[in-house]
Amino acid sequence: MRIILLGPPGAGKGTQAKQLASKIDLPHISTGDILRKNVSGSTPLGLKAKDFMNKGALVPDELVTQMLSERLKEPDTSKGFILDGYPRTISQAETLDGILKSRSEEIDLVIYLDASDKVIVQRITGRLVCKKCGANFHIKNMPPKRDMICDNCGAELYRRADDNEETIKNRLEVYKKEVSSLIRYYDRRKKLYSISSDGKAEDVLDDMVKLVGAVA
Ligand code: AMP
Repeated sequence: MRIILLGPPGAGKGTQAKQLASKIDLPHISTGDILRKNVSGSTPLGLKAKDFMNKGALVPDELVTQMLSERLKEPDTSKGFILDGYPRTISQAETLDGILKSRSEEIDLVIYLDASDKVIVQRITGRLVCKKCGANFHIKNMPPKRDMICDNCGAELYRRADDNEETIKNRLEVYKKEVSSLIRYYDRRKKLYSISSDGKAEDVLDDMVKLVGAVA
């Protein structure tokens, strides 16, 4: 099953995508995670992407699309995947449709995780991310057992460079402009389902698993 998760930054998309992926045994593909790995490894892609990311702007399509199409060539994607952070634009959605069409595949389900602005800002400003495994924590809502240490792998936690109030406002604005057209794009194709993510993480995950079961 090929699933796209859409949702504003802070809707809990990253955490939910990882948990859904392990529940239904599909690879979780996050373009933000892949880009961050490239930035921290100072790869040629990372060096090109870094300034865009720090400003909260979108990284140019050709860089991200190239990176995604390489990832989709890996054999674990043959049974499907959960895409998180891609597509961000109609042009990316069309590119993705093209890549899948060449494999006689298509997107089966698009889940829109909806969240209010207040919840979003509160979630993002408290977010902590593991340097090694990428797991997410929250200073108040989901604190790690040991201060700034990942519960899963013991590596150090950090705050993302783009998780500050100034950048969040920009990311939310960019996101809202882009997402409305994507919502229409997938709604027209009868792929779109919306789930509220203002509530507890376990309930949101339950709703997603039920939805995947109903669509499968
Ligand atoms: P995310 O982790 O999805 O919030 O992404 C973090 C940052 O990575 C974004 O603010 C963009 O700068 C960049 N990024 C991630 N995915 C994409 C994409 N599909 N297109 C362009 N830029 C992206």
